[in-house]
Amino acid sequence: MLTVAEASAIIQAAVSPREPRTVPLSAAAECVLAADAVTPINLPRWDNSAVDGYALRSEDVAGANENNPIHLRVVGEIPAGKSPGVPVEPQTCVRIFTGAPIPSGADAVVMQEDTKPHHEGYIAVLESAEPGESIRRAGDDVTAGEIVLRSDMLLGPAQIGMAAAVGLKKLAVRPRPRVGVLVTGAEIVEPGRPLREGQIYDSNSYALAALVKRAGCEVVDLGIADDTREDLHEKIDYGLSECDAVITVGGVSVGEYDLVKDVLTELGCEQKFWKVAMRPGKPLVFGVRGDRFVFGLPGNPVSATVTFLILVRPALLKLRGLTQWDLPQVEAEIQEDFVNRGDRLHFMRGRLKKQDDKWTVTPSPQQAAHVISSLANADCLVAVPGCQTLKRGTLVPALVIA
Ligand code: AMP
Ligand code: MG
Repeated sequence: MLTVAEASAIIQAAVSPREPRTVPLSAAAECVLAADAVTPINLPRWDNSAVDGYALRSEDVAGANENNPIHLRVVGEIPAGKSPGVPVEPQTCVRIFTGAPIPSGADAVVMQEDTKPHHEGYIAVLESAEPGESIRRAGDDVTAGEIVLRSDMLLGPAQIGMAAAVGLKKLAVRPRPRVGVLVTGAEIVEPGRPLREGQIYDSNSYALAALVKRAGCEVVDLGIADDTREDLHEKIDYGLSECDAVITVGGVSVGEYDLVKDVLTELGCEQKFWKVAMRPGKPLVFGVRGDRFVFGLPGNPVSATVTFLILVRPALLKLRGLTQWDLPQVEAEIQEDFVNRGDRLHFMRGRLKKQDDKWTVTPSPQQAAHVISSLANADCLVAVPGCQTLKRGTLVPALVIA
C-alpha cells in the first residue's frame, strides 16, 4: 500500500497550475498573479502635503516659535483634488490639505496646529520648518515603469489595493479552480428533510464545500448520487466537464455498492492509486482524465475531512498556482499520550491550547472515523506513526486544521 508521502508525490506530479487568464481587479483577490504588474504612474503623482496646514517658504519662517510668531499673508487655498493655483511668493503662504499638491514657490508645509489665525488674511506661524518638511515627494512610493507586484504572488487585500492605487483595472492571474463536490449513497438525505429508516443526513457535502472554499477554490455542488452506475456516471461526467477537479465522497471501499472506481474507469479516468496507508481514510482513489482530476474520498465524515486536508488541499493549492501547500504547523507539547495501536500512519485529532508562551495539545477522546463530534471539537491533527505512542511531554508538530 502507498504511504502518504508516496500518494502526495503522485498527486503533486499530476497536478499543474491552471493557465493564466486576465480578469477584472474585482475578481482577482485570492488568485495568484501570473505576470509582473508594472505601474504606469508615479505614486504619489506629485509632491503633496502630508498634513493639513500651510505651504510656505521655509526661509520665511526661520526662527519662528511661540515667542516669536512670524506673520504670513494667506494667498490661496488648495483642497485635495484641486490643482495648485497661485504660487507662493515671499512672506505669503497657501492653505493646504492632506494629499493636495504643493504650490510652486513653497518648499515646506507647517501643520495647522503650529499656526494661529492672525488678523484678516494673515496667520501667525509658531514653528520653523526644514526645507521639505511635511512634503511627500512624487514617486517616493513607486515610480512609473516599476514592477509593483511580482508574478507568483498571492493577491491578498494589500496587493489588490496596490494594483488599484496605480490604476490597473485588470490583472493576469491563475483563475480560481472550480471544484465539484459529489456525495454518494442511497442513505444520504439533505438536512432539513424528515429521516426515514436507514437514512442519515449529508454532512460531507457541507463540510467539504467549506473546506474547498477555505482552500481558495470555487465550489460546484454536484448533489447526491445514488449508489448506481448510471447516476454516478452521469454526475461525475458532468463534474469532469465543468470542473478542474471533482471530489466524490463515499463508495470507494470494497462493498458491492462501492462503484466509484468502476465508474471512473468507464469515464476514461486513469486510476493513479486506490489505497493509502493512513488512518482515517485508507480507501481513497485518485483518477486523472486529461487536465482534470477526481479524488474519490471515503464516506466516513472524519475520513473525508482528514483525507481532504492531507491529500486534496495541497493539490488544490498547487492548481491555484501557490507553492506552499502544507497545513500551518505549531510545535506543541503533548498533554496526554497519543496512542496509535494500528499499523497505519494515524492523523489523530487534537485540541491546541496556549499556556503562557507555549502550545499544548490534547488528543480528542474518541478517534474513530465516524465520530463527527471528535472533529468538530478539534483544531489540529497530530500524525502518529503506526504502532507508536507519542508520550506526554513530547514536543510534536500539530497540523492546524485550516
Ligand atoms: P462509504 O464510504 O460510502 O461506505 O461510507 C462510509 C460511511 O460514511 C457510511 O456509514 C456512510 O453512511 C457514511 N457517509 C457517506 N457519505 C456521507 C455523507 N455525505 N454524510 C454523512 N455520512 C456519510
Ligand atoms: Mg456509501
